[in-house]
Amino acid sequence: MLGTRMDATTLAQTEWDLVVVGGGITGAGVLLEAMRRPQTRGKKILLLEQKDFAWGTSSRSSKMVHGGIRYMAQGDFRLVRESLHERERLLREIPDLVQRQAYLFIVRGRQFPNRWAMAPIMWLYDAFAGIRDHQWLSKARLTQSVPQLDVTHLKGAMYYTDALVDDARLVLRVLHEAVLEGGQVCNYMQVNHLSAHHTGGFDLSVSDALSQTEVTIHAKSVVNATGALADALSGTEKRVRPLRGSHLLIEHHRLPIEHSLTILHPRDKRPVFVYPWMGMTCVGTTDLDHTGDLRQEVDCTEEEVHYLLELMQHEFPAAHITQADIVSSFAGVRPIIASDKGRNPSQERRSHSVWTHQGVVTVSGGKLTTFRLIAHDVLRALGWIDEHQQRALWDTQERLFRHNVVFPNDLGNPKKAIEFNPAFLQTLAWIVQHEMVVHLDDVLLRRTRFGNTQSNGGCEYLPQIRTVCQKYLAWDDARWQFEQDRYLNIIQTHYSPPKTYT
Ligand SMILES: Cc1cc2nc3c(=O)[nH]c(=O)nc-3n(C[C@H](O)[C@H](O)[C@H](O)COP(=O)(O)OP(=O)(O)OC[C@H]3O[C@@H](n4cnc5c(N)ncnc54)[C@H](O)[C@@H]3O)c2cc1C
Repeated sequence: MLGTRMDATTLAQTEWDLVVVGGGITGAGVLLEAMRRPQTRGKKILLLEQKDFAWGTSSRSSKMVHGGIRYMAQGDFRLVRESLHERERLLREIPDLVQRQAYLFIVRGRQFPNRWAMAPIMWLYDAFAGIRDHQWLSKARLTQSVPQLDVTHLKGAMYYTDALVDDARLVLRVLHEAVLEGGQVCNYMQVNHLSAHHTGGFDLSVSDALSQTEVTIHAKSVVNATGALADALSGTEKRVRPLRGSHLLIEHHRLPIEHSLTILHPRDKRPVFVYPWMGMTCVGTTDLDHTGDLRQEVDCTEEEVHYLLELMQHEFPAAHITQADIVSSFAGVRPIIASDKGRNPSQERRSHSVWTHQGVVTVSGGKLTTFRLIAHDVLRALGWIDEHQQRALWDTQERLFRHNVVFPNDLGNPKKAIEFNPAFLQTLAWIVQHEMVVHLDDVLLRRTRFGNTQSNGGCEYLPQIRTVCQKYLAWDDARWQFEQDRYLNIIQTHYSPPKTYT
């Protein structure tokens, strides 16, 4: 349903009204909202992604559609209000993908925020969302719900709700919708250079990773939605501060929690989440300046494994969680708009920024949760909507997802464990036919999270997966071997945590 992937030569034959560069949630949201506006009906709009859709930060987040309690503490009320507004919309519109989740903010003695400081914060948090969901849980009730928790100085917990998602599936859901609205998308197509054309519009020099060709594509307008890589195409001075965040996935039976727990790390008092996701227990995140090459996969470092295991061992001593319990890890880079104040990474604001230079509109920063509102700011910068229209869109009753796309077998349900069975193979067959799959890792790391949630990336099941891929993608044996080697290399190098700590 994402359509057949077009090669670069075919794309170069069209005069595009708009090219959106970047196939993460921001680019996907811009494409969808651009297609949806009545004033843009009939326009030709194309999204280009250098690797796979959601390959960047948008498949490596903490998987929360949320307001963010800690942004309240930073005084970023606008971001929280907008995020909660969007959270409620997504919960209503795509309940198969975005699901309400109970959270517990653990409070121990002499900790700030304590129960009394949390109460007004939570009141406002719920008020922004138009719900009333929070309540104080006594120590006795808390230890009933989370019996593995260390009781030293434990006071209780603030109960509230937010939502969980499979972030990569959210991107795909938005792309499906945008394509059904008439948009075009293409993966493995890198934009190398942008230049303004003397007759107006832009020339984009583009490389097609599949055909190994380079072409020039013409567009009247360009949006640079390349996340942490935004500085490379914006034409302006550097604005993005890349901050790495890593997570570990642990066998659920080793720490069988049902709530998402927010815990202050004993070392630096940063909030870290421990939460159930797709049948696993996930712990994260870290927040560190990232100096590696942003075009390469990002890895969770030894230092981060140590930091996250330290939290687990401190908070759940009886569970004896060690390196051996880690099934996989993943790391992503936040595209943070730098404050120039040399702030501690966790103090940097999470809101997005849109800026225009020589006609190129760049957008970076922000959250998964607010992609619809970010897209409106971009459309405004393009001059496609005005202030009045933007205000009307904030609270529009019009659905964002109006096409009934039927996804098979709970695909993307953040609360459902992925099991290898005939239904899973049927799901794979649907995916490879409808979701512009190019490589095996597209299927196992983003279209599904099979590779993240199985030991060794689920390599023992590859023979059965091979049958489906060869049948529907016409991969011969040599191609399968190439794909299998590529996948196992990615799993071992980037999704398996370094094995140093115990
Ligand atoms: C650890 C972590 C946890 C987070 N947790 C949450 C959370 O729980 N909830 C939440 O709401 N937000 C969260 N966020 C923030 C959120 O994930 C990001 O704001 C969001 O995913 C950014 O999306 P994006 O589309 O701007 O960037 P990306 O997803 O990185 O997409 C940019 C895309 O552009 C492509 N690209 C780059 N250069 C080119 C080029 N030259 N040509 C073509 N394509 C190109 C890249 O390959 C990439 O796929 C988290 C972020 C991190 C790092």
